[in-house]
Amino acid sequence: MSNMQEYMTRGEEYILKTYNRYQIVLEKGEGVYLYDMNGKKYLDFAAGIAVFALGYQNQEYNDALKNQIDKILHTSNLYYNQPAIDAAEKIVKTSGMEKVFFTNSGTEAIEGALKVARKYAYLKDPSRDYEFIAMNHSFHGRSQGALAVTGNAHYQDGFVPVPMRAVFADFNDLEDVKSKITDKTCGIICEVVQGEGGIYPAKQEFLQGLRDICDEKDILLIFDEVQCGMGRCGSLYAHDLYGVKPDVMALAKALGCGVPVGAFVTNEKASHALVPGDHGTTYGGNPFATAAVSKVYDLFDEMDIVGNVNKVGPYLYEKLEELKEKYTSIVDHRGVGLMQGLEFEGPVADIILKAMDSGLILISAGANIIRFVPPLVITKEHVDEMIQILEQSLQACNLQ
Ligand SMILES: *Cc1c(COP(=O)(O)O)cnc(C)c1O
Repeated sequence: MSNMQEYMTRGEEYILKTYNRYQIVLEKGEGVYLYDMNGKKYLDFAAGIAVFALGYQNQEYNDALKNQIDKILHTSNLYYNQPAIDAAEKIVKTSGMEKVFFTNSGTEAIEGALKVARKYAYLKDPSRDYEFIAMNHSFHGRSQGALAVTGNAHYQDGFVPVPMRAVFADFNDLEDVKSKITDKTCGIICEVVQGEGGIYPAKQEFLQGLRDICDEKDILLIFDEVQCGMGRCGSLYAHDLYGVKPDVMALAKALGCGVPVGAFVTNEKASHALVPGDHGTTYGGNPFATAAVSKVYDLFDEMDIVGNVNKVGPYLYEKLEELKEKYTSIVDHRGVGLMQGLEFEGPVADIILKAMDSGLILISAGANIIRFVPPLVITKEHVDEMIQILEQSLQACNLQ
């Protein structure tokens, strides 16, 4: 038995089985390539689920973390720490929002954002019940509150009733949203580009319409940019592409580029909802995690990550369009920047396995959709390499 096989067997023995994992143990990364324990090399078009934007082994990033380890890893939020302040300032200045609360994950960023909207409504009328409007096919995380606004029965199965109140409307259907507004509605939450739900970008009129409804009703608009934010769609924040601002924005995934960290970011109106004692976290915003965030913002600037997305994203789009033209089993192609999806007429699991055999890491978003969320430093040559292996895999699966 190979050493890798032995590890996987032990993994099944000791790690709670909430995932059906691919049969490899990843050991290291280098640029946009990953290596398993046997030294096999893979081109990475998943980035640890849209996380590792900078590519692996960015020296400046690694050094920043090593330096922080030698100073202090953790302080708690009872005191100030320098990296958190630096990181928060960078988020505020780049987003035009007002305040930042750091969390340990995207789910927690969503939890916090929901609490802000709930509290905002509570301050106006403590006696009134509350309800969120969320979108069908959304994904916001696995905690009970985030699940409550996740519009996919599969994630809620076995965990109902969920504690927070939500009703679901169709994404990109403004009339449907309007029909679900009641005097209990305290907030509307949506992804700017739906990720897990299958890579569906919002329409301009939809986001603007949500903004108008929220202004008119004086309720909060929450954008979940956990996956689509941080440059992935071709602007630092996805909503910048639309010129529509949220009251609260949730970030995570590429925010720390591998260090577990998220944030919810509030505008002036929303910032006042929470006061000392209303929300907290032991780890959130610790100096190690926020040193990563701070360095990520610097490197995004220095390396012109957004510029690269705008160079390589359209090229990826063109190449995937060509593939769609060629194969009738590909029924749709959607997305923006380096967040794109190819929808097939049937399940894509076998294509992904074949690609992995041939040294390409891909992931799905729903059963029939291959999702392309590579590190944001990929080049056109990497796209060509990916397309070549993908096409081989389609042929190996006998797809026309
Ligand atoms: C991944 C994701 C989350 C949850 O983030 P975690 O870090 O896994 O808790 C929330 N919203 C969206 C849109 C996501 O893609």
